[in-house]
Amino acid sequence: MEKYLQVSEAQRVVLESVATMGAEQVKLEQSLGRVLAEEVRANRDQPPFDISAMDGYALRSADLASVPAILEIIEDIKAGDLPSKTLVPGQCARIMTGAPMPQGADAVIRVEDTEAKPDNQVQINQPVKPGNDIRRLGENMRNGEVVLAPGTAITPGVIGVLATVKRAQVQVYRRPRVAILSTGNELEGLDEPVDPNKIPNSNSYALMGQVQALGIEPVLLGIARDDPEELARYLKRGLEYDVLLVSGGTSVGVHDYVRPTIEALGVQMLFWRVSMKPGHPVAFGKIGAKIIFGLPGNPVSSMVCFEQFVAPALRRMMGHARTYRRTVEARMTHNVKHQPGRTEFIRVLLAKEPGGYAATSTGAQGSGMLLSMARADGLAVVPGDSAGLAAGGTVTVQLLDGTFFQDDAGFGE
Ligand code: AMP
Ligand code: MG
Repeated sequence: MEKYLQVSEAQRVVLESVATMGAEQVKLEQSLGRVLAEEVRANRDQPPFDISAMDGYALRSADLASVPAILEIIEDIKAGDLPSKTLVPGQCARIMTGAPMPQGADAVIRVEDTEAKPDNQVQINQPVKPGNDIRRLGENMRNGEVVLAPGTAITPGVIGVLATVKRAQVQVYRRPRVAILSTGNELEGLDEPVDPNKIPNSNSYALMGQVQALGIEPVLLGIARDDPEELARYLKRGLEYDVLLVSGGTSVGVHDYVRPTIEALGVQMLFWRVSMKPGHPVAFGKIGAKIIFGLPGNPVSSMVCFEQFVAPALRRMMGHARTYRRTVEARMTHNVKHQPGRTEFIRVLLAKEPGGYAATSTGAQGSGMLLSMARADGLAVVPGDSAGLAAGGTVTVQLLDGTFFQDDAGFGE
């Protein structure tokens, strides 16, 4: 009998088999969600000179040894201006946030702590320390300094940094080209009429969504019938892509032709079974730099296996250092039965509660019950050796897409 890998062993096999793709250049506008393939350095000091952090007055802090003090305003410096005068004792300059500090000044006082006086004078009501409310030259970044390392995931904040250093184009890792193939005589295409004897092909589309959520636009190859020749034709097309996802036909039924057909095409299969529920008939192989996943036909199993094996592989290929989904600890609100053996993934809803989260099953957990997956915030992981979870116990929950938002701000101001 074939060896079942543990989930973690299978994940290791997958990640050891994939390499990061080569690099390509993209416009900054197209870079969100990609991963930097180059080191990015600052192209100048930021700020380029000492600037004011406030709307107020640039002054000599020594002039405020006794307050209130009256100072003469000799200049008005707006952001974008260059100051032209040097302050001497008793003088100040009106200055706006972001404007360069004038010579002779060593501090800024905000306008709220001053009173306008006639004849271009201002009364300062409190002392300030040297350096007050000044943003120093180079405080954000120094010219030539490495500000972003290869492997940095491009978020909106990173895009802001890239724009700051004037990178209209950036080198990022290529995204793998992904193809999705469903197999099964019983499958009914999305555009075909409803036939009571058939099963709608949902896997192609759920997988499509999972791939899209990672920032990759997959190609849907359609449905291959359970016929070795037809299957071989489709698989050959699929192997033109960097990653091929095959749904169904990986079990040991007499019409499950994926295994012999795939091996006949020269694909080296690294595993066929993983000790997990749902999803144990999940397979993985490679041919050259291309990889292929055989995902179980059951709709929930297919999605759960995608999360455990396919998503980390695609993330690694895209250059991400973080390949796995974030997990949180949660309080299980009810008992969970479990026969020791396979690692079990339970679809749960998460509710915020003081100190963390409460996890509750989305309902009946059959591997064909796609609604239990559609409703889920996460997958609660019951370890293989567990004899079941008791209500109130802590469980690790893998977060799914769409869980990054909640109903309220959550900090109760
Ligand atoms: P299989 O892995 O091919 O034995 O399929 C297991 C179960 O999943 C069967 O009930 C199939 O009808 C169902 N199934 C297989 N492929 C799909 C698909 N693309 N969409 C929805 N259900 C599927
Ligand atoms: Mg089948």
